[in-house]
Amino acid sequence: MKSLQCDCQHLLENVVGNKIAMNPLDPGEFRRQGHMVVDFLAKYYENIEKYPVLSQDEEPMEAILDDVHQHIFPGLTHWQSPNFFAYYQTNTSTAAILGEMLCAGFNVAGFNWVSSPAATELESLVMDWLGKMLDLPRPFLPFGNGGGVIEGNTSEAIICTLTAARDRVLRKLGHNSIAKLVVYGSDQTNCSFQKAARVVGIDPRNFRALKTTRSTLFGLSPDSLEKAIRLDINAGLIPLYLCATVGTTSCAAVDPLEPLCKVASKFSMWIHVDAAYAGASCICPEYRKFINGVEFADSFSFNAHKWLLTPLDCCCLWVKDPNALVNSLSTDPEYLKNEATESKQVIDYADWQLSLSRRFRALKLWLVLKSHGVQNLRSHIRNHCRLAKLFEELVEEDPQFEVVFPINFALVCFRIRPSGVAGMSNGHADNEHGEAWKLNEVNRLNAQLLHAINASGRVFMSHTTVGGVYVLRFAVGATLVTEKHVIMAWKVVQEHANSLLSMPASEQHSA
Ligand code: PLP
Repeated sequence: MKSLQCDCQHLLENVVGNKIAMNPLDPGEFRRQGHMVVDFLAKYYENIEKYPVLSQDEEPMEAILDDVHQHIFPGLTHWQSPNFFAYYQTNTSTAAILGEMLCAGFNVAGFNWVSSPAATELESLVMDWLGKMLDLPRPFLPFGNGGGVIEGNTSEAIICTLTAARDRVLRKLGHNSIAKLVVYGSDQTNCSFQKAARVVGIDPRNFRALKTTRSTLFGLSPDSLEKAIRLDINAGLIPLYLCATVGTTSCAAVDPLEPLCKVASKFSMWIHVDAAYAGASCICPEYRKFINGVEFADSFSFNAHKWLLTPLDCCCLWVKDPNALVNSLSTDPEYLKNEATESKQVIDYADWQLSLSRRFRALKLWLVLKSHGVQNLRSHIRNHCRLAKLFEELVEEDPQFEVVFPINFALVCFRIRPSGVAGMSNGHADNEHGEAWKLNEVNRLNAQLLHAINASGRVFMSHTTVGGVYVLRFAVGATLVTEKHVIMAWKVVQEHANSLLSMPASEQHSA
């Protein structure tokens, strides 16, 4: 059936080709295409017994799953494999998968309270529980006049809060001031911030990605923030929004929240804390210190779909002033008017997000929190951090390698050391371009190493470049990962490194 459809499609594409349109009865085309149709029909009759006599378009589940196995599996990257160490994991659990099934089963579009009260109430409840697990300051929680909402992802959370911040200022200064608004992050801030700024209408020239250095472990320096803000103010611009990150995408660096917030607050800026990856770890008291200072921010978000046993999509956002979101994002069409909304006693979550319809995402998070409880969730995070430490030890035991940044959470950034690369100590580094040449060669060799590791199909890691240094990223986060997988991954790294490093220098540089 499928191949027949393909053939027909192909035939149709030829039949409506340009030549026909130019001369509807071209004798040469008639002969050529006539033969094609005859061949097509002849082939059809030759194979006719192979096709089910009655259309089988409605396949039984067994056949569909068989198709999934045969045709979808080969093209899947298995994110849930315990050998997946790339990017940041998006992990899952039985409880959350069942929650997703319930969500699809109920399929409510809980845009406002009345459209499905349980969806709204459960969302408020789980966001309250989670806020308490993270020990978020009272002003972020409902009894402190704040509140939490589940967005699809961090990009949405940033777009929504940036929109609220923009409108808060423009309501005072007038819409024409939009061209003067400036937003700040660092060169390590996730690219979603830049996209959000574009979407929200910030002039691209007013997007500041402030440079970070090794001296601050790639965290944003409060001094450089203050300098940049003052320069902008002197140029007649208006500082609007700071996006501070706890656990950057490249190397899990942490921006120092408290001093950054103190700077940004002086200028009445909106401060958002993006803890997309690392936020989950703050349910453990020993990691909570990384968000110290969040009390001075306006909003905080993290992706439960990264590290809290909850599958995509589930970004948890808290704001101190939900009205700021509502003032920017609410609509009031006749067809949605209802008494509950008018009573102002309920939350209409559509007013806290971009789209109108919304999935009942709270269900999966509720199932995760209820099934596992805070102690088990803490153990899950700690186990990954312990496995990352194990990998770090393995790297450090091998003199050919180095761990490039201190580990804050469960990400290890490592590389073959410069001294491990052939030709590094033979004088090249003494000529005028020596240092750049050296860095380039070391980077190139490490890129080759990653390519070889991933081509083996045994493990999957990713890379980044920070401060010009290419590093391999080993992010522990799969639900099923154990010590055995970490040790095996390290063996794969060593095997490929040994074979690369044992090549003569000339081959290493040309490989
Ligand atoms: N912020 C940080 C720190 C991230 O690490 C990521 C993704 O890894 C994002 C934002 C983007 O998140 P999302 O894909 O949920 O928009």
